[in-house]
Amino acid sequence: MTQREPLPPSSGRVGEGGSTSHLRAVPPSPLVRYAAQAPSSGEGVFIHIRDLPSPNQDARPDGVPIDTLILHYTGMQTAQAAIERLRDPAAHVSSHYVVDEDGTVLRLVPEARRAFHVGVSYWRGNTELNGRSIGIEIVNPGHEWGYRDFPVLQLAAVCDLCLEILSRHAIPARNIVAHSDVAPDRKEDPGEKFDWEGLARNGVGLWPDDVPDLGTGGAARDAARLRDVRRVLGEIGYRVMREGPLDPALAAVLRAFQRHWRPEAVTGQADAGTLARLLGVARLVGIK
Ligand SMILES: [Zn+2]
Repeated sequence: MTQREPLPPSSGRVGEGGSTSHLRAVPPSPLVRYAAQAPSSGEGVFIHIRDLPSPNQDARPDGVPIDTLILHYTGMQTAQAAIERLRDPAAHVSSHYVVDEDGTVLRLVPEARRAFHVGVSYWRGNTELNGRSIGIEIVNPGHEWGYRDFPVLQLAAVCDLCLEILSRHAIPARNIVAHSDVAPDRKEDPGEKFDWEGLARNGVGLWPDDVPDLGTGGAARDAARLRDVRRVLGEIGYRVMREGPLDPALAAVLRAFQRHWRPEAVTGQADAGTLARLLGVARLVGIK
C-alpha cells in the first residue's frame, strides 16, 4: 500500500496547547501489521503523550511550508540520557517528539515551532530542513551502542504519531524520510532495523510492492552504468553528483537508500537487488 488511508473518525489529535498527560486509545484499524501485539480487549494500543518542553527551539521561517517528516533514532545508551541532551540548552539539539521503547510519546517542541534535529542536510533541492520538517526521535542505542530491534509497541506509537502529523500537515509520502536519507555522509539513523515497510503498509511513507529479490550480484561500478542510478537517486531526493564511477559519496547515498528501502543488504553497492528496489521507488514517485 502506498497511499494513506483516511484516518478513522475516532482518531485523537495532539493538541498544540495541551500541557497535561493523557492516555489515549489508538484505533486498531490502521495498525494492521501490529494488531497481533495489541491488547486482547480489541481497543488497540494505548500510547501516552506527555509534554516535556525543550528550550532548544525557535520560530519557523516565514513562508516555508511544513512538508517533510524526518525520523531518527536517539543513538544514546539510555532514553534518559537522550532526553536530557535534547533538553540541554548547551547541546542546541532537540526534536518535536521522542518515542520511547514502551510506546510513550514525549512532545519536546510544538509542531508550529522549529526544532533542531537535522543539521547539514539536503532533500529534493531543499537544505535548512529544520525549518520545514517535523522530527521524531525514536529511542534506540543505535549502531554505536548496541543497535537493537524496535519493539512493536514503539513502532505502533511511531506509526500512529506519524498518521496524526499527516492529518495536520500536507506532507507527501516521498518526504517521509530518515535522517540518513538527508545526511547520508554523516548519519545512519534510524537504520536498517526500522520497519519502513510496515509503516508504509499502514499509510506512512512509500514502499514498493512486489519487487523480486535479485540478490547482491551484478553491482554497477563504472560511470556509464551508474549514470541512471545517479539520476534516479537524485530525482528521488538525494544529493548526488550526476556523473562518475562508484565513489565514497555515492556509496554513502546507496547505503542510505538501502537502510530505507533495501534493508536486507546494506552494501553501498549498486547491486541487482538494490537497482530493483530503486526502480520500484522511482515508479512510486513518477520517475521514468
Ligand atoms: Zn538523527
